[in-house]
Formats: sequence, structure tokens, C-alpha cells
Amino acid sequence: MTCGSCASLAGRRVLTNAPRLVLDDHWIVEHAHPVAVPGWLVLVLRRHARALHDLTDAEAAGLGRWLPALARALHAATGCELEYVAQFAEGAGFHHVHVHLVARAPEWPDDLRGPRVFAALSTSDPVDAAEATRIVEAVGAGLGVRPEPVAGVVVAPDDPGAGDVRALLERHLAFAHEVTPAGHVHALDLDALLDPAVSFYAARRGGTLLGVGALKRLGGDHAEIKSMHTAAEARGQGVGRALLDHLLAVAADSGHRRVSLETGTMPVFAAARSLYASAGFVPCEPFGPYTVNPYSTCMTLTLPRP
Ligand SMILES: [Zn+2]
Repeated sequence: MTCGSCASLAGRRVLTNAPRLVLDDHWIVEHAHPVAVPGWLVLVLRRHARALHDLTDAEAAGLGRWLPALARALHAATGCELEYVAQFAEGAGFHHVHVHLVARAPEWPDDLRGPRVFAALSTSDPVDAAEATRIVEAVGAGLGVRPEPVAGVVVAPDDPGAGDVRALLERHLAFAHEVTPAGHVHALDLDALLDPAVSFYAARRGGTLLGVGALKRLGGDHAEIKSMHTAAEARGQGVGRALLDHLLAVAADSGHRRVSLETGTMPVFAAARSLYASAGFVPCEPFGPYTVNPYSTCMTLTLPRP
């Protein structure tokens, strides 16, 4: 699996909804997204390194200098009572040194204190771009560092019932019915996407919807990719890849070992099949409700152990 932090540093993926601060040759800091907590900063090493003990002297000196400076600036920007610090580099696709620095506000629910704060990373109601931007700008002002805009694709949990999402899902269903014989359409409708076994994500750039995708838990350690659809005007920009990488990271993070999907055999599905093949999916026997038929093909991927 590709490194999410390296993809973000190279501009191929966006993990924030606000500008970032480039601190020096070794470190950048950005506001985490999606996250329920305002003032959740992530200090990211600008090269791939697996562990803190891999830092060069210059990188380590930078960390020692920036961490307390950031804590002071974050306190000034948010009025936080404490600053939490954590570094794991153990999430699937994020084996890359990154330090979480979280503004722990004075009014703070018990169920988010201490290590429980990480529950705030799996939120469907994230801090919005305006607030994250305000905090980054204030922290940057405190450090004397100017924020730099981040352009690119943000993949985050989204509401299948939101107006623009609904319109795209309707196009996805209409497309499926147009190219697939009746009785062979397996696209999920809105009600099916609201099933608690389904996690739904959207890719957006500057708030504009580019594509959607979902992960359905099938039981055991098996999950299924559903509802992958990129808006016609956003094709060829890596949106499908960003969604797929995100869904695979979510699957791995939630303990799944196998991810499967069903797609069409027709030429219009060739780009989708090659995207899945490039991520390591291989053809497999039909699973779940799928059958052997000329219109349908199933693919599966065994996730590497973390
Ligand atoms: Zn990396």
C-alpha cells in the first residue's frame, strides 16, 4: 500500500481541509481532517521515515524546537487547557513519522479524554474548513509562518442524502441500468447506503463533489467496495484512486483482511477493472449475492498484515 503521508506531501492526496504551515526543510504541520476536534494538528516529517529513532539530528532538533512552539501557538489560538501529543505511525498506509498535537479544550467530554481522543478521528461531523483555516492561520501568525493553500482531493465520510451526493448517486444508478441488463444491477440505492454496515465516503476538491465510494462490512474479516463512482467531469484526475486507497485504508484499520467487489465485464467498466487490478485486486469466484454470468465479474484483495 502506498504511504498516505508521502502521497500528501507529493500533492497526490489531501489529508486536510485547511492551508498548511511549512515549518522548515524537515517538518510541515496541518489541521487533521476529518476530525471532530478543532485544533487537532499533525506535524508531519517531510521525508518517509518509519520511526522516531530514524530521525536525523537536524530533524530531531526541528521536532524539539517546533513542538513546544506549536503548543504555545495552539494555546493562544484556541484557549486550550492542555495539548495532547501522540506519535504512532502505525495506521494502515501511514507508517510515516507524524506527531498529533491536539488542543484539549477546558470544556471537554470525559469520553474524549486521554487516548480516547482518537475516537474523534472517526467522525461524520468534522470541523469545517472555515474553522480549521482560522486555527491554522492563528497558529501560523503565532509562529511567524505563512499558511500555504493545499489544492487537491479530500476523501472523507459524507452523507449519502446530501443534495449533490444524491444527484451523483442517481447518475450512478442510471448508468448501471443503462449499461447492465435488468436483474444484473447491484448498485446500492440511498436506503441501502444508510445501512449501518455501510460506511460512505465522498471525494471533494474545495467542497465540490468529485466522486463517491462505500465500504460494506460483510461479516468476519471480509468487506466489500460498493458505489464507486467518479463524476463525469472529474474523470482522469486520480479521484477513483484516492477513493479506493481511502476505502482500503479504512478496511485495514477496522481489522478486515479481505476486500472484494463486483463490477461489470463490459468495455465501459474497463477503466474500473484496471484501477482495481492496479491496487492488487484479482478475479475471484462470485461471493455474497453474485452469480456466474456474462455481465458480472468479482475481484478480491487480501490486505497485508499491518
Ligand atoms: Zn511516507
